[in-house]
Amino acid sequence: MNQHDRYGKKLIKEIAGERLITRGSQIRVHYDGGVSASIDAVVEGTCAIEIESRVAKQIRGALVDLIFHELPNKLLIIIPVHMSNPEATAIHCRCILDKLRRKDHKIEVVLLSGTGDCPEFEIDKERICQALETFQREDTTRNGSLSARICSELLELGKIIEPMILFPALAREASELAITNPYAFAIACCLDRGMKSEIIWTIPFDIRQYLGSLDPYQINQMSLEDISLMFNRLPRKPRYIHDAPQTLDDLTRIVVLDCDGDASKLWEGKLATEVRRTFESIHGVGPGLANMAVLLIEKAFNVSFTDIDHHQMDIKPDVHTIRVLFRLGVSSKETDREAVEAARSLNPDFPGEIDGALWYIGREWCHANRPSCIQCPMEDLCLMVDVDI
Ligand code: SF4
Repeated sequence: MNQHDRYGKKLIKEIAGERLITRGSQIRVHYDGGVSASIDAVVEGTCAIEIESRVAKQIRGALVDLIFHELPNKLLIIIPVHMSNPEATAIHCRCILDKLRRKDHKIEVVLLSGTGDCPEFEIDKERICQALETFQREDTTRNGSLSARICSELLELGKIIEPMILFPALAREASELAITNPYAFAIACCLDRGMKSEIIWTIPFDIRQYLGSLDPYQINQMSLEDISLMFNRLPRKPRYIHDAPQTLDDLTRIVVLDCDGDASKLWEGKLATEVRRTFESIHGVGPGLANMAVLLIEKAFNVSFTDIDHHQMDIKPDVHTIRVLFRLGVSSKETDREAVEAARSLNPDFPGEIDGALWYIGREWCHANRPSCIQCPMEDLCLMVDVDI
C-alpha cells in the first residue's frame, strides 16, 4: 500500500473508527467461476470503498470491483496524484458508475484536495464525511419510505386476494365449500392437526360427497360408530382418525343445539374469547388450535374481533413468506425469526395482516428459482427484482 492509499484510509478511519474494515471476507468481491477480487475497504453497514491515486485508466478498472461488491452504497475516493486531470477523472468515473449501477445502488465520488505527500486533513475529512452522511441520510429515507410503500402494497394486495386462494384444497369446489359454508369451515378448523392444509380443507367436501349433503342435523343423528365408519371410508382421512368422530360429534352438537344449525353463529357477534372457549370445548381442540381458528375466521369471513390485540398477531413464517420478505429486502436473512421481526417492523399495528399477501406472492410469482418478477405486483419496490436466482 502506498502512502496515498494510507492517507485515504487514515482519513476514513478517523471518521468511521472500528467500522472501517480493510481486510477479510467483507472486502471480497465474488465473480462467477470462483474468481474473486478485493476492494480497498468497507465502512460496515454503510458503503464499499475504492481509494485511487493511479492514472485514469487504472482507476476505471477499479470501478468494476466497486460496482460488483455486495454493498449497495459505493464510495470512490480519488487522490489527485498520477492522473493528468483529477477533476475530469472524477466526472468520468461518476458517469461510468451511474451507467453501471443497479437501481438500489447509491454512488458518491469524492476528489480529495490533499495527498499522502501533502495532506489536507481537515478539508478531506469534511469531504468524506459529507459522502458518508449522504449515504446514511438516503438509507434512512429510502428504508422508511420504501418500507411504507411495501407495506401499503401488501395491504392492498391482501384486500383483493379471494379467501378461497388462502384456503387451498385439492379441488376448487372443496375450497369454495370451506370458505362459503361455515359448518365446513369449522369442521376443517377442528380437524386441522398435523396435516397438509390442502387435505384438511378437502375433508368437509369429502364428507359431503359421502353423505350427499353437509347437514349438521343429519350428522347429529349419526352415532359415533357411523361417523367413524364414514371417516374410514373417506378418500382422505384426518390424521387422528380415532379422535375425529368425537370431534365432529361435539362440534355438530354445538352447531345444532346452540346455533340453530347455523355454524356462523359460532363467531358472529361474539368476542374472540368466547369463540376460543367454544372451540376448546370440542374434543381434540386445544388452545393452539382454538386460537388458530379465531385467526382463520378473521381471514376467511372478514370478521375483526375487538378483543384481539392485533399487535401481537404475527405472520406464520413458511417458505413463501420468509422468501418474499428476504427478497423484498425487508428481512436480512431467510429465517423464521427474521421474517417475523421484518413483518413486525413493516406493519407493527397488525403484523399478521400482511401474511396472506406475502404467501400469495411467494406461491404465484416469487418461486425459489426463476421468480416471475415481471408479473409480480412488487416489481417496482423489490430489491431483488430481476436478480438471477
Ligand atoms: S419482484 Fe421478483 S424477487 Fe421481488 S418479490 Fe416479486 S417475484 Fe420475488
